[in-house]
Amino acid sequence: MSNRIQAVLGALDDDQPQALERLVAFLKIKSISTDPEFASDCRAAAEWSAKTLSDIGFEASVRNTPGHPMVVGHYQPKAPTTGPHVLFYGHYDVQPPDPMDLWDTPPFEPEIKTDPRYGEVIVARGASDDKGQLLTFLEAARAWKSVSGDLPLKISVLLEGEEESGSPSLGPFLDAHRDELKADLALVCDTPQWDGDTPAITTMLRGLAFSEIVVQGANRDLHSGMFGGVAVNSARVLATVLSALHSDEGRVLIPGFYDDIIEPGQAQKEQWTGIADSARSMLDDIGLTQSAGETGRDILEQLWSQPTVEINGLISGYTGPGVKTVIPATASAKISFRLVPGQDPEKILKNFEQFVRSKLPADCSVAFKGSGGSPAIVFDLGTKQMTAAARALEDEFGKRPVMMGCGGSIPIVEQFKSELGMDTLLVGFALDDDRIHAPNEKYNLSSFRHGARAWVRILDGLAGAGD
Ligand SMILES: [Zn+2]
Repeated sequence: MSNRIQAVLGALDDDQPQALERLVAFLKIKSISTDPEFASDCRAAAEWSAKTLSDIGFEASVRNTPGHPMVVGHYQPKAPTTGPHVLFYGHYDVQPPDPMDLWDTPPFEPEIKTDPRYGEVIVARGASDDKGQLLTFLEAARAWKSVSGDLPLKISVLLEGEEESGSPSLGPFLDAHRDELKADLALVCDTPQWDGDTPAITTMLRGLAFSEIVVQGANRDLHSGMFGGVAVNSARVLATVLSALHSDEGRVLIPGFYDDIIEPGQAQKEQWTGIADSARSMLDDIGLTQSAGETGRDILEQLWSQPTVEINGLISGYTGPGVKTVIPATASAKISFRLVPGQDPEKILKNFEQFVRSKLPADCSVAFKGSGGSPAIVFDLGTKQMTAAARALEDEFGKRPVMMGCGGSIPIVEQFKSELGMDTLLVGFALDDDRIHAPNEKYNLSSFRHGARAWVRILDGLAGAGD
């Protein structure tokens, strides 16, 4: 370890009490983005963030949008650097604290408490998501600047205030400030570690496709005594079609569904198999005993690198109280797909529509409504930057990071890719039991400390990795 890193890490450790004071001050601001009553608090959080960036040495400002403001900061190193220009993204807004009566202490009066498992934790709305997480990066930058008088990379910062309410201003803002915000690599600190001792980098996100199918039989609903046995029943047709989507082994039977999939590498699969036991506890938690995914695949593979088709809703016939002996003329289902790298949402939907049509009996027709989707995202594990980040995390935690997938999508990552052509390094220090979006949200002080230390090492690693 270089003397420089040692000095920066030392400064970070010495400054912990002050860093914690800054976190407490940030958490006291009620920046609830979804409720217009807190608009001035959101602005206060934006101003607090811009001032914090300025104190560190960034050129920072609060930028108005039709919604809550953005905060943008830039730092141009004085010394020449060969590393990438990075754009750090975080969000200063928080979820509403409701239901209030389930909080043990008020959500905007941060308290340090002792957790039997993790030691000291800070409890407040936003402690983990995302104020604590984003401050890990700013504290790392602060320590770096105080020790060496400079930062090792060109760093831009974008902090948003509408992440918890759908980010309506983000797309237009990125579009309007493309040249200012475009960097070589985005850094986002809003994801979890694997567990309390094991860091993680999220390297793949499943995509999404969706459609609603409406099956039509007779031209009107019919009496089951007068027409039963003769007239086709749309609900039965729909059930037959839907039940043909999967084999008994849980494999999707739509032709071509798996054709273009890019499977993760062997080393990746082995790492996931090695940690599959701890992943199975997610089933206990929801009252299940076994995975319903494809037979013969490990649970993390099913969750991260295998595609799905799910029935999200079904509507047909009479669903009110009592009996009504009707043969429904129409039946509909809302369907969605989680897609993996290689799958094209349009092609998947086209094959799905063909598949449904091929299963329809005479006299039935089908309409498809509201189709759309976005592809999966996967980052190259072999880049110099990814390697440098993984090594930095290993140096800090003494354990190799888990290269995680994410079963859902993270819109900002898609927008950085599509609007600015940038890949994102997703490194976070939250834990699944941080109770984000729920009462008594907490952030472990060890996450806060290790997170900042890890960012110091990542910045150093990136600076040495070249762009
Ligand atoms: Zn968040």
